[in-house]
Amino acid sequence: ESMEYGPATEDASAVREWLARQGSLGHFIDGKFTKPAKTFATRDPATGQDLAQVSQGSEEDIARAVRAARRAAPGWAATSGHDRARFLYAIARTVQKRERFLAVLETLDNGKPIRESRDIDIPLVVRHFYHHAGWAEIATTEFPGHAPLGVCGQIIPWNFPLLMLAWKVAPALAAGNTVVLKPAEYTPLTALAFAEICAEVGLPPGVLNIVTGDGATGAALVQAPVDKIAFTGSTEVGRGIARALAGTGKRLTLELGGKSPFVVMADADLDAAVEGVVDSIWFNQGQVCCAGSRILVAEAIAERFETLLRRRMEKLRVGPPLDKSTDIGAIVDPVQKQRILEILTEAQAAGAELVGGQEGSGCFIAPGYLRRIAPANPGMRKEIFGPIATLSTFRTPDEAIELANNTAYGLAASVWSESATVATDLAARIRAGVVWINCANLFDAAAPFGGVRDSGYGREGGREGMLDYLAVPQSRPAGKGAAPRPANPVEVG
Ligand code: NAD
Repeated sequence: ESMEYGPATEDASAVREWLARQGSLGHFIDGKFTKPAKTFATRDPATGQDLAQVSQGSEEDIARAVRAARRAAPGWAATSGHDRARFLYAIARTVQKRERFLAVLETLDNGKPIRESRDIDIPLVVRHFYHHAGWAEIATTEFPGHAPLGVCGQIIPWNFPLLMLAWKVAPALAAGNTVVLKPAEYTPLTALAFAEICAEVGLPPGVLNIVTGDGATGAALVQAPVDKIAFTGSTEVGRGIARALAGTGKRLTLELGGKSPFVVMADADLDAAVEGVVDSIWFNQGQVCCAGSRILVAEAIAERFETLLRRRMEKLRVGPPLDKSTDIGAIVDPVQKQRILEILTEAQAAGAELVGGQEGSGCFIAPGYLRRIAPANPGMRKEIFGPIATLSTFRTPDEAIELANNTAYGLAASVWSESATVATDLAARIRAGVVWINCANLFDAAAPFGGVRDSGYGREGGREGMLDYLAVPQSRPAGKGAAPRPANPVEVG
């Protein structure tokens, strides 16, 4: 079974017609698309319309995919780094060739503004594969004695569907592993289009397998005989996976939630900081794990900052995701929208004041922020995962740090000051995997990304990301007992 290629177009109706022609979509196992059995609909959150029927992966589907990945593992591990690099380059080039189609497909399935999928998501996917082709090329000299782990199970969320796939698949393949990936149930379409690209470039069957489905399919993958699980998603599900894997010897990396501080010092360039907020919490409808969702502003400039912020917020356009002038598209699903609204209600009941954040029809919510909010308010503690920040003030740098670190999470942070000394001093005192200075939400394939505490462990990107897909050299000769593997941490963070 094969999927017909999508049209090279930005014309969404052509992409919709193409999807309709596909009928129901199967999994991608051992280099082929399977015949769909039990299916569910994936929808366009902006219109509520069904886009396609995709398959609900069963335990048996997962088992077949893992067997295919296991059969392919020795051959792929023995493929030279140079030859693995050639496949990764070919994937990068083909994604680039289909970038318009993939951007439209992503926007239809997820609801994110086309400007973002076209200018941010897809170019970063391409960059990630090019970058990791480089790592494949030099893997044997850079990581002498290291070996691939074998079969990697990968589970990803819906907020950056193809980009999260790239973050997982590119390093795994570069390091010589084979993969079974489960996309999120809301957004499986670009992963299937990606599978077709892998078939086109001649990636050997079984090296990459994609099984679609919901949390139960993910849970089956966690239980399957794989060598590693790489998970990105909620802290709650991540904790469950860590518990399920404790004592199994399977490697685990977790990229979980966040409630990242956005600290504006009194000497900051306020216009730039306001743009930073736009990039932080009003990017991708705020459905960003490292969103700067807690804005902390020096009291001396708080009033001016809020005036500028409000003025800028009111200029943001909420609208159809396919419209090139839209800033804020649709929330991924009505269930997610309901979760956001519930936290806003709770936050207001606990005394916070909501500015903006009006509920629109369908899956839309206007950008907003919660002000006059106490540190213990649920709106300040829970990850809202929507276009709503919190705004509070501090008097001294020490108080800024105390507030910034007053969270169970530790994924990212952003610090704004015109003084390099002040900014770097503060950055060093914030407990987070990534701290941006005078910028926010900047990603590069060469820079390792990941969290601390309830935001998870492990890194994606760069050298550290490669090491999370490799087994360290055995310190003793074979036969005399292998060096002990590091145990899986049971606790998250
Ligand atoms: P989620 O945890 O509900 O789902 C994530 C994935 O896990 C989906 O594919 C889902 O089907 C699967 N899943 C659900 N239950 C499972 C189970 N019991 N066993 C195995 N797999 C299971 O999260 P979500 O709502 O899709 O995503 C939002 C969350 O992801 C947010 O908390 C966000 O912060 C986090 N996130 C983190 C990062 C990061 O890099 N740290 C990136 C993006 C999103």
